Amino acid sequence: MRQVHHWIDGSLTPGSASRVGPVFNPATGVQTAEVVMGNGHDVDLAVAAASRAFETWGDSPLVQRQNIMFAFREIVAAKRDEIARVLTSEHGKTLEDARGEVQRGLEVIEFACNIAHLLKGDYSEQVSTGVDTFTIRQPLGVVAGITPFNFPAMVPMWMYPIAIACGNTFVLKPSEKDPSVSELCATLFAEAGLPDGVFNVVHGDKEAVDAILTHPGVSAVSFVGSTPIARYIYETGTRNGKRVQALGGAKNHMIVLPDADIDLAADAAVSAGYGSAGERCMAISAVVTVGDAGDQMIEGISTRIEKLTVGPGDQPGAEMGPLITREHLDKVRGYVESGVSEGATLVVDGRDIVVEGHEAGFFLGPTLFDRVTSGMRIYADEIFGPVLSTVRMDHFEDAIALINANPYGNGTAVFTNDGGAARKFQREIQVGMVGINVPIPVPLSFYSFGGWKSSIFGSHAIYGPEGVHFYTRQKVVISRWADPIHRGVDLGFPTHG
Ligand code: NAD
Repeated sequence: MRQVHHWIDGSLTPGSASRVGPVFNPATGVQTAEVVMGNGHDVDLAVAAASRAFETWGDSPLVQRQNIMFAFREIVAAKRDEIARVLTSEHGKTLEDARGEVQRGLEVIEFACNIAHLLKGDYSEQVSTGVDTFTIRQPLGVVAGITPFNFPAMVPMWMYPIAIACGNTFVLKPSEKDPSVSELCATLFAEAGLPDGVFNVVHGDKEAVDAILTHPGVSAVSFVGSTPIARYIYETGTRNGKRVQALGGAKNHMIVLPDADIDLAADAAVSAGYGSAGERCMAISAVVTVGDAGDQMIEGISTRIEKLTVGPGDQPGAEMGPLITREHLDKVRGYVESGVSEGATLVVDGRDIVVEGHEAGFFLGPTLFDRVTSGMRIYADEIFGPVLSTVRMDHFEDAIALINANPYGNGTAVFTNDGGAARKFQREIQVGMVGINVPIPVPLSFYSFGGWKSSIFGSHAIYGPEGVHFYTRQKVVISRWADPIHRGVDLGFPTHG
């Protein structure tokens, strides 16, 4: 059985752990590898390597860091297909979707290529007679990233290119469910000329995560994953004196007003609801229809579902792949059962799907519920599968109130042709990322990504300008060089003049 290893100080190593975890191809249901599960000792080794590397990397010229980022960008772009294939073989998403994921990660690397500009400080001349003030941003030291299974290439790339370009060194703890992409990317980064110890990967689960959260050598932690774990990471990390940004789960709503272009809205609901089998933190999971948009959307979505091709992600023509594990498949099927027993109308049932030749794969067909209400479990919980719920409302205001009452606040969308309604939505909605006739409003790399409420803990969104701020500390310098005026001793509070 192939083993997926840690990457510490520029080398692959099985580490010292006695545990391994299974890695499956979700399309076949067959175990394809085992991943070593890191423990406190492995984390110690990675942090020690990163601390040593920080002594020189943190001091390295900006242009040198940029050159390595440019080289990494070229290699990732050239190997995009190889990365996508590895990703699909362990995650299950279609190759096209995987290529899109790598592309969005690549855009963050490209953003980091511009780090010299992004780290510029402010300068104010003559704030007082002969006195200038300026700001500089300095790296934190060793920082860590803990990432989810659903974007095994992109989400780590939301973190480490910016952290490293800022002068930090990095320890990544990727998801144990699809770990091979991180191993591949670590070797590609080394190929780009990154010095040993600047980027390290420790695989594992809670044991490795807890070792990171309590390690005195780690200055900051970026986390992306489910809300209960995000809350735990934030509380534990900050209690241990670390700067923490922890992005959590989601329940994304899409409102469709009666004046919307229903074809556009139905295309969007199907793409955003079933893309990547619903395993996206920005997936639409509740379509909220207002007035007579309800019947039209149910009709539009169900006719589109009939035409979707479900199959292994590496099969040409497949539009939707399997779920990540058998346990997750069982959990999502359980939600479908609970929706039926709680009285929602099951319009399309994906439970009977058979993918020929892949009967043991973790497949669930696209599933559509109508007349879902806010008290039902399928409405309240993040299902993270290809299950779309339709909630019918009479009034736009009630639809907005429903979203604002939801504990999550990651992404949302409105479909309408009324500019006034769209503007009301963008102003009143209590959600961090808003789409207007756009179902998955993921900001590009030069903005930052982050939800509100239980979808994020900590004050910084991820990547973009907020990423640069998260991975650096600001220092303000007040200096007097020109024509110093000797005023003698003065114990009064300094004022300008
Ligand atoms: P998860 O929370 O189960 O795992 C995320 C990471 O935390 C993994 O590396 C895992 O090993 C680790 N972990 C799991 N349990 C832990 C524990 N008890 N203690 C310490 N560490 C633990 O999430 P997942 O199932 O891998 O990913 C899906 C979730 O991620 C969904 O909720 C999705 O919405 C969310 N997500 C959010 C965003 C965002 O930007 N807000 C992006 C992608 C995914």
